Amino acid sequence: MSKSNPPVKPGDQLTIEIDNQSHTGDGVGKVDGFTIFVPSSLPGERVKVKVTKVKKTYAHAQVEEWETTSPDRVEPPCPVFERCGGCQLQHLAYPAQLEMKRCQVVDSFARIGGLEEVRVLPVRGMEQPWHYRNKAQVPFAKRRGETVAGFYASASHAIVPFSHCMIQQDANDRTIQIVKEAVVELGIPPYEEKIHHGLLRHVMVRTGKQTGDVMVVLVTNGHRLPRKEELIARLKESVPGLASVVQNIHMRRSNRVLGQENRVLWGQGWIEDAIGHVRFRISPHSFFQVNPEQTVVLYEEVRRRAALRGDETVVDAYCGIGTIALYLARDVAQVYGVESVAEAVEDARINAELNGIKHATFETGAAEEVMPRWVKEGINPDVIVVDPPRKGCAPELLDAAMQMGPQRLIYVSCNPATLARDAAILAEKGYFTDEVQPVDLFPHTHHVECVAVFTPKDR
Ligand code: SAH
Repeated sequence: MSKSNPPVKPGDQLTIEIDNQSHTGDGVGKVDGFTIFVPSSLPGERVKVKVTKVKKTYAHAQVEEWETTSPDRVEPPCPVFERCGGCQLQHLAYPAQLEMKRCQVVDSFARIGGLEEVRVLPVRGMEQPWHYRNKAQVPFAKRRGETVAGFYASASHAIVPFSHCMIQQDANDRTIQIVKEAVVELGIPPYEEKIHHGLLRHVMVRTGKQTGDVMVVLVTNGHRLPRKEELIARLKESVPGLASVVQNIHMRRSNRVLGQENRVLWGQGWIEDAIGHVRFRISPHSFFQVNPEQTVVLYEEVRRRAALRGDETVVDAYCGIGTIALYLARDVAQVYGVESVAEAVEDARINAELNGIKHATFETGAAEEVMPRWVKEGINPDVIVVDPPRKGCAPELLDAAMQMGPQRLIYVSCNPATLARDAAILAEKGYFTDEVQPVDLFPHTHHVECVAVFTPKDR
């Protein structure tokens, strides 16, 4: 960009060609080389817009009128799509969503990693890309004296009420509605975020797709839950498959959904589900992939690319409840997992038992602290799997992994930007990947999951 002053100001009306899409799904066009983000527009469209916000290097504008529309544009099936922050891409045909996500990965590798040569394979998508989520986290609030429950609008805490979510499994939708009706009738007060007052903050529902188990977690700003017994009775009566009712106590002002303390109000305190041939117990604080159908696809990509013979030692870093470690266990001699959430590690150990797996060891701690210790202890894996959160791998973890000198490092990533950054770090250390396999775990949202295998250059 050559100009020092933005060529547009708020309120300007102009017509632009949308020729790109941001990683969050906004259309992107240019005016004299200056970037304009236009939500709701798609590449290939010509739109009349009104500029809403201008920053030093970019502006935002909203569509006033479409002069042409993209052949990939579809009618979003969800009535609250425009307002709700849950999905970003329902207006884009599913095959085009997959290609958009592929381009996002290509772009990250080129721009952030400086690795243009890495081939990005077509994204593995779903045949029926709806009603896939096994977990719903629904904020409750008070609006004009009434209890409302819904999803947050994009970049906001304004609640968009809904009764049916197109990407949730039906059991989650139904359960949320049952909880909502019950708390209204029983007069259980919702939380009021602005004044940090009131009780019910969130309801989290998790469903086991294979088992039908349902867990309801009531997140409360306080220890006392009035009319608890009646609420439990209602849930037992109306929620098929109810396995657990848990109260999570969360009294801080915070954007985190869950607080530290769980109290099991009824049932076992967890649910079970299965991914492929492995059964898992899942506790409230434990991470579990939200799209179980595509998780099999993801883990199969990991397994295939691990090319195991049966005698290997495998490390699973950021292992959650041991999912990848246990999925690979029957193909290897020994697996080690490390995970920072203690409750998840407890689940992982029980999951090993549940599946009769004796050669899996799990440790609680930060992967970047435990892995260097494992190096000193002489743990010498043939294959390392890493599956970090969005911020990617800590440098100390990549260092330790390289010191272990594995034949393969399999990187599972939910953020192409940090994957590309870490790929560049690994390349400096002599480990390279030729290709990346994206898997669509989150249809209609802008998120994309990737698997890449890094091997030492001269092996
Ligand atoms: N591989 C698992 C979990 C992946 S999600 C699965 O597919 O189910 C990432 C996990 O990393 C979460 O369980 C999170 O609690 C954990 N985590 C986050 N930061 C960590 C760290 N520094 N060290 C170890 N685990 C961490």
